[in-house]
Amino acid sequence: MATKMFFSSQNCKGATSGVTGREYNADSKGFIHVEDSRDVKAFKDGGYVIASGVGSLAATRQHFLCEPCSWDAVINSCPKCGSQDLARVDK
Ligand SMILES: [Zn+2]
Repeated sequence: MATKMFFSSQNCKGATSGVTGREYNADSKGFIHVEDSRDVKAFKDGGYVIASGVGSLAATRQHFLCEPCSWDAVINSCPKCGSQDLARVDK
């Protein structure tokens, strides 16, 4: 099963692993689906965060809060109102 990961930037279009040379393209929500555990480790070292399950904010170390509409988002981009000026919340 692929590991879902994301980078803390809404401009992530994908990544190429320096370990296996595999290319991963970000899906429409900005997630990459990493199939090799060696790549998961490499991307983690590179600043990627594992998203274990859609909407599972408790599994991430931090998330973003959209103050205008009180929406919790995993990246600095609100899916509800489109704001990209969210407050970072550290757990
Ligand atoms: Zn919002």
